[in-house]
Amino acid sequence: MNDELRAAIVQDDATGRVLMLGWMDEEALSLTRSTGTVHFFSRSRQQLWQKGETSGNFLHVVEVILDCDGDAVLVRASADGPTCHDGSTSCFTPWLWRKILQREKQNAEGSYVASSLSRGTAFLARKVGEEAVETAVASLAESDERFVSEAADLWFHLLMLLRSRGVDPSDIEDELRRREK
Ligand SMILES: [Zn+2]
Repeated sequence: MNDELRAAIVQDDATGRVLMLGWMDEEALSLTRSTGTVHFFSRSRQQLWQKGETSGNFLHVVEVILDCDGDAVLVRASADGPTCHDGSTSCFTPWLWRKILQREKQNAEGSYVASSLSRGTAFLARKVGEEAVETAVASLAESDERFVSEAADLWFHLLMLLRSRGVDPSDIEDELRRREK
């Protein structure tokens, strides 16, 4: 059992959101339990690492649960910050949000995402206002194709506005879930 790796799923204790998947050997599992912060074994680097050791975004253990046959681990934890290396709350992030973060990071010449984000929140707030009006008009007076196109513009610009304020889409999900109660 010693050199066997267990899949370890980390779940946010407060929201239930799956944050990431990593691998644990015996040492990583035992350190996770004894230190109260999540440790993994990196298969690519073949070494132990502590989540947050470079980013500062540690995962604080609430509960460690082994599955029925002991080859997988569920860790319920609270996160100090974004869990994914790309800046998302979770490694399992919607495609469009991941694209926006990638384009921002690459900051390539001619990238609409990068240039819009660098123009700032006021610019994006105005764009969201315009796109919202265009979407509303299209919903009443235009074809499905036009309506979808305007709604896509609105959705995309709203995500960029969130990004420019440093808000993650998971914050919106959490707010909606709170209201459901
Ligand atoms: Zn990730």
